[in-house]
Amino acid sequence: MPSRANGPDKEPSATERARLLKIVCPPGSVCHLCRGARGPIIWGLRRWHSLGPSMDHVVPRSQGGTWDLWNLRPAHYGCNSGRRDRDIPAVPGVRSRRWGHRGG
Ligand SMILES: [Zn+2]
Repeated sequence: MPSRANGPDKEPSATERARLLKIVCPPGSVCHLCRGARGPIIWGLRRWHSLGPSMDHVVPRSQGGTWDLWNLRPAHYGCNSGRRDRDIPAVPGVRSRRWGHRGG
């Protein structure tokens, strides 16, 4: 692997990521995607458990977001992996609407 010197969009190593995770997302953190609707973030579960800790990028990586602390928020692993670098989807169910009988 060619290694570049500290580029702005360098991926952190696994060790560095683990360190950031402990800072951004300590046990009991509130997930900023579901805002705690699924409960606090839990450590010590099996790996990749949907309630386990994860970091979400405020500015997505695809849009130049960095691994700086200001750009990271605590999130459940499950919430984060469902987001996919896009805006949080709108609430479903308000879309199709029948007009019924109207006017007269
Ligand atoms: Zn969540």
